[in-house]
Amino acid sequence: MIDLHCHILPGIDDGAQTMEDSLDMARQAVSEGIHTIVATPHHQNGRYINEKNEILQRVAALNEQLLQENIPLTILPGQESRIYGEMIEDYRNGKILTLNSTNKYVFVEFPSSQVPRFTERLLYDVQAEGLTPIIVHPERNSRLLEDPDILYNLVNKGAMTQVTASSLTGRFGKKIKKFSMDLIDANLTHMIASDAHNVSGRNFHMQEASELISAEYGMDMLYLFQENAEAIVNGSACFKDTPEKVKKKKFLGIFG
Ligand code: FE
Repeated sequence: MIDLHCHILPGIDDGAQTMEDSLDMARQAVSEGIHTIVATPHHQNGRYINEKNEILQRVAALNEQLLQENIPLTILPGQESRIYGEMIEDYRNGKILTLNSTNKYVFVEFPSSQVPRFTERLLYDVQAEGLTPIIVHPERNSRLLEDPDILYNLVNKGAMTQVTASSLTGRFGKKIKKFSMDLIDANLTHMIASDAHNVSGRNFHMQEASELISAEYGMDMLYLFQENAEAIVNGSACFKDTPEKVKKKKFLGIFG
């Protein structure tokens, strides 16, 4: 299994703090059947700045450690960038890192309770640059939860999205779990990933989420997500079903 979103690089964001933490995470990932992780440290989220070259060096260092420790896991470079006005300029200046450095897919994170006004324009510009934007964990954004049509519109215009495994397994509560499943139902998400930060509170849950997906939606859906993860790492085309609007809950009456 490939995990596209993980804060496994030590000491550069709120994920692993030490190399020992990173190795603990690596061992846990392997125990869940993960063989490849895209390391995606935060960038420009108001707390952390992690630019391309720095990430590339740290990924190489972690891979070396994994080899020494005999942990059968490969780390690929990536980045979780908060949406910001200078993203395109910074991409051109070599500060933004695409997933596995293929210049095809780029992670975009929204603030947790809003979708900035310039989002549609920026995601358009990202695509004009030849990149596919992947909106990370849309299910955890309270604005999108309120108004899923905003996400429908962005996906309809070419953005992809990644739901977090532990959202599906219920770590963030029932509402977010339900919304995650609504997004799968409406073809508004194209992959799952762990967004793991550590081995305690925010760990992988990839196996559990995969089992849930195959039980609820069938193996085909799980394969589709897994194939998309592979395509993203390879920089090739993903499979995208026609997006639909999230169905509004039927009103059951005043007492319903
Ligand atoms: Fe993250």
